[in-house]
Amino acid sequence: MMRVTCSTALALLVSGCMSITVVEDSGPKGDAKPARSPMQVTSSPIPDYQRNSAWYTDAQTRVSRAPTHGKAKNIVLFLGDGMGISTITAARILAGQQQGNPGEENRLSFEEFPVTGLVKTYNVDSQTPDSAGTMSAIMTGVKTKIGVFGVDERITQENCQSGQGAELLSLLDIAELAGKSTGVISTARLTHATPAATYAKTVNRDWEDDGEMPDEAKAQGCTDIAAQFLAAENRLNTQFGEGASDGIEVAMGGGRRHFLPGSVDGGRRKDGRNLIDEWQAAYPKGNYISDKAGLGAASDVPLLGLFSGSHMAYASERNQPGAHQPSLTAMTLKALQLLQDDDEGFLLVVEAGRIDHAHHAGNAANALTDTVELSEAVAAVMRNIDSDDTLVMVTADHSHVFTMAGYPRRGNPILGKVVTAWSDDPSLDENGLPYTTLGYMNGRGFRDHGEQLNADSTYAEPPSTGRKDISTIDTTQPGYHQEALIPLNSETHGGEDVAVYANGPGAEGAMGAIEQNQLFHVMLQATSWEAEAAARVEALGDKR
Ligand SMILES: [Zn+2]
Repeated sequence: MMRVTCSTALALLVSGCMSITVVEDSGPKGDAKPARSPMQVTSSPIPDYQRNSAWYTDAQTRVSRAPTHGKAKNIVLFLGDGMGISTITAARILAGQQQGNPGEENRLSFEEFPVTGLVKTYNVDSQTPDSAGTMSAIMTGVKTKIGVFGVDERITQENCQSGQGAELLSLLDIAELAGKSTGVISTARLTHATPAATYAKTVNRDWEDDGEMPDEAKAQGCTDIAAQFLAAENRLNTQFGEGASDGIEVAMGGGRRHFLPGSVDGGRRKDGRNLIDEWQAAYPKGNYISDKAGLGAASDVPLLGLFSGSHMAYASERNQPGAHQPSLTAMTLKALQLLQDDDEGFLLVVEAGRIDHAHHAGNAANALTDTVELSEAVAAVMRNIDSDDTLVMVTADHSHVFTMAGYPRRGNPILGKVVTAWSDDPSLDENGLPYTTLGYMNGRGFRDHGEQLNADSTYAEPPSTGRKDISTIDTTQPGYHQEALIPLNSETHGGEDVAVYANGPGAEGAMGAIEQNQLFHVMLQATSWEAEAAARVEALGDKR
């Protein structure tokens, strides 16, 4: 890597010179050939250590080789947390069966997208990843360690100092710098790993409020995730100049407790700050809302919606008549409507965050129902955007150890016991016991009514191994916990690839078997945001 002067040809993109760097492409591994000249010159607000990472340059090169059809003005990124391929298959069948059909022939909305790919999800230090490292890869273009986001792999987890100087610019940061509107929505806590990786940088994903941080980390200058949400605009303005960012336009989810002091509404903050009041003071025209009615009435940005103390409810509860929490579709459509007011374009990130939680509990019904809700939100977006100017991507951060097994006949209830095409009686195992189609490799599982969990989620008695008779159990009822081979309090993530579905300008970059950090480059190269951000930052620098 070496510095060059402003006169370099490709710096014409911007009005002046700023962090102009010649990237000597480290090149993709294997037989791939670089598509650009080896001396690639770009002006960018993205730090050199991020842009020069082999993770970054490799994925950047691969995307640059994909055919393109125009540029995207807007991006909508949907994340199904823990939505592995077996989850998609089972959810598609459930949705079809709910419409009175056999189910297998059904398509979820995003299965209509023309481009699909397989995504390798591992973290740099973890064969099976978590939501923090994976979303960090999707948002920054480089992989990192498990349990952290917005910082690169040089950090040591939970060591505040190690993260200083390792911060990565996220796609949301870049969209802000490019003058776009930005939005982030989750059915999990807004401070949870997936949504937070859009706007925060942390060496510990659990630092959702200051009460969860060690004093040493605070003394070293690290701040909690909720506080970073409030400071997101200032962070960019401090780094790039006043006016660089106008703040996140739309943010909705759960997690109110991390924004409130202990004295207020189950708040968990120890520093006495009320971040909701502070947000309202910082954005006098901002709308803070806390329920479905507030969402319906909201008509302007910035919008902050915190609909529950912790995670929002599962879709099965939330979408009941009289529920106070909104559906994912209602949140997504409101965000879309508000963000579309910006003629400059927008980035919207939408997480169905509780697919993951239902799987961790070994409860397929809620995992599938929340997946169907995600599909409905995608369908609603597709009805309200122009596919010629908006890239829509649907993916997952990681999978779960969730399987579809046996030889159930066509149309067999997906939550039911296996009944084959050649017998009307349930299939039996070697001990003469029936079994369900859906199950888990590990987790809480159904074993025996007697094995209740204590309030602290430990087992009252060590769980037995070996199967119990489920002949008289209705496995299709929503609270059923499918069987698991290995007894764990919480079912674990799975390490196999997840899928990506893409539609719109730049979608082709997601084709093939790709590393997860490539998804960032698909989105970045679909737009002109990097150059626009560079130009805006440059102009700010000239004013200073
Ligand atoms: Zn998880």
